[in-house]
Amino acid sequence: MIQQTPVMRICVSCRKTYDRKYLIKVTNDHKQGILLQKGMGRSAYICKSKNCYTDSKIIKKLQKALRTSLEPEFIDIFKKEITSYNDYSNKGI
Ligand SMILES: [Zn+2]
Repeated sequence: MIQQTPVMRICVSCRKTYDRKYLIKVTNDHKQGILLQKGMGRSAYICKSKNCYTDSKIIKKLQKALRTSLEPEFIDIFKKEITSYNDYSNKGI
């Protein structure tokens, strides 16, 4: 039986550690620039608690963690993505 060790990452907002699969991943991909949930390169993670992904400083925190500036196009994609998480907010995820 293969035991899978969860990969733990820190949320850029609350600084708590979570299993990577429960986090929103933002990657500064070498070739494609900033990507959500995919890509290879420096990554930052945000947990799916509403306080974190709706943090008014979340874009600034991401920019600092990724050491780059985020394009308005990416911010749009990010905001659409987090809108879909609102469904979970009452279930405490
Ligand atoms: Zn968090």
